[in-house]
Amino acid sequence: MGIKIETSLSTFADFVGQRNKLQIEPHRLALLAGNPLSPVAIIAPYGGGKTNLARLLIKAYCCPYRTSTGDPCHTCPTCLEQGPKHNGAGWFHRHFEFDCTRLNKADIRRRLRAVNCEDGTAVCWDEFASLGASTTKMFLKTAEDFAGLFIIAMTSDEYQTMLPQLYDRMHKLCLTTPSVEEITDFFVTKNQKKWNIATDRDTLQQMVERTGCGFRACQKTLQVAANMIPPVLDRNLLDTLLPITDRPQQCCTLSGLPDNIDYDE
Ligand SMILES: [Zn+2]
Repeated sequence: MGIKIETSLSTFADFVGQRNKLQIEPHRLALLAGNPLSPVAIIAPYGGGKTNLARLLIKAYCCPYRTSTGDPCHTCPTCLEQGPKHNGAGWFHRHFEFDCTRLNKADIRRRLRAVNCEDGTAVCWDEFASLGASTTKMFLKTAEDFAGLFIIAMTSDEYQTMLPQLYDRMHKLCLTTPSVEEITDFFVTKNQKKWNIATDRDTLQQMVERTGCGFRACQKTLQVAANMIPPVLDRNLLDTLLPITDRPQQCCTLSGLPDNIDYDE
């Protein structure tokens, strides 16, 4: 049996990057106090974990067994029934997740009305920027009066498309790209605690740099290393998997968060 390289985001403490942690902290504290900051706009770079963060906030809000750190338990039916497949599920609080790229104006109106009829509901509108201005106008009143947790999520290069009046009404949660050091620290710690791949900090940092800080690419690299017998990540393997090329690093696609939670899509 090989080791599965998972970088699941299961707690608020899992978030990589000091600036991201500072952003998230007020939301965690508000959840702990039983009064979530809402409505909230999660704005993150592409691949920066906005959907994962939305799901963690929703889980933490809806879970009846929230821990003393404000994290969800991950084992109760409410926690397990996550993602769009389970819309309407939940024990104390029902939860919904909508992909705005798949909804037309009539769908939105219907869903806004439905979720607004109940107290204590959590709802995430993902890929919000795909909606036009005339559609997002419908959100103005609902977002403000919503009794529960209301989240919209979009990428950083798209948030300017949001109506200024709507933007004004939201608590902003802006994720940014962590530093090479921070991402390396994350992998060093995870490896020490869980994977035990024979490697060193220098090699891991090289991996982070060569992937342009791409979490997904790092994860795939580590998975190959974990499958070696015995599991090892050295410079030779790195040169094979991530050869240095003249291709510019895609530093704009940096990922702030692990992105492999096994939710059904
Ligand atoms: Zn739970």
